[in-house]
Amino acid sequence: MEDRDGYIWLDGEWLPWRDAKVHVLTHTLHYGCGFFEGLRAYKTEQGVAIFRLRDHTDRLYRSAKVLQMEIPYDKDTLNQVQREAVSRNELEGAYIRPMCFLGSEGMGLHAHNLHVHVMVAAWRWGTYLGQEAMHKGIRVHTSSYTRNHVNSLMLKAKANGNYLNSILAVREAAANGYDEALMLDHEGYVAEGSAENFFLVRNGKIYTPDLTSALEGITRETVITIAREQGLEVIEKRITRDEVYVADEAFFTGTAAEVTPIAELDRRTIGNGERGPITAKLQSLYFDYVHGRRNDKPEWLDHV
Ligand code: PMP
Repeated sequence: MEDRDGYIWLDGEWLPWRDAKVHVLTHTLHYGCGFFEGLRAYKTEQGVAIFRLRDHTDRLYRSAKVLQMEIPYDKDTLNQVQREAVSRNELEGAYIRPMCFLGSEGMGLHAHNLHVHVMVAAWRWGTYLGQEAMHKGIRVHTSSYTRNHVNSLMLKAKANGNYLNSILAVREAAANGYDEALMLDHEGYVAEGSAENFFLVRNGKIYTPDLTSALEGITRETVITIAREQGLEVIEKRITRDEVYVADEAFFTGTAAEVTPIAELDRRTIGNGERGPITAKLQSLYFDYVHGRRNDKPEWLDHV
């Protein structure tokens, strides 16, 4: 990742990609107390646009509030920087990563007066789980790792430290030959994927776990909005893993994963093992919106 041309914004300056470095005593590197966002920009007929930029920036500030780390820039500045990260790097489609982290001014859990540093990078990133996954679906297993408890880690924050739980789950899934993990909460109900929200379809209705133990996904909210506009019922409720086994369809949503069908959970084929019709419809509408092919929600696109 580090040896390439381009520019990364760090604390108010555009640095050559290879020079955007931090000290090894950076506090967040040691303890994980930081937060970030992940956004995508897509090519549209009117030029490149970032999908739901302002909503992601709002979530970045909510993370700051939860972790009591004040971001030393206003939202307009960071929105402009994110647009520029795409244009400066001459990207036609991009993944954008803003992150706020604590500096190396002190060490130890009690360290105070640490600076909040801010970086923004953007690069080309294809489909998260592979192009084939978008129509064939992925193979998922139920993780042996329990999703972070809401009183252990703050799930309204997209905090760096939260992702240790996700990485353990992803590595276990891969070692067992699966593409992704489904994570259950401490009571055993479905929470989310390692970096995606979860949906299932049964008898024409869509179900998704409530947000107690899952991130407030922006793609999740997008898909719920689109589905309801199609007249589909979306119900937020507790979901058990065996409800997933007997679902007609299931899919993950996320900025990186977009709308990814799930073909199998724990060796039980879901539905007929292919992308189901409601998943296909929502996936296609999602791609229409991100690519600006539907223009009834102009507020979802910020041109760079
Ligand atoms: N859950 C987790 C744990 C995530 O990391 C992500 C990705 N940000 C999501 C859900 C999906 O969120 P979004 O749709 O906002 O990308």
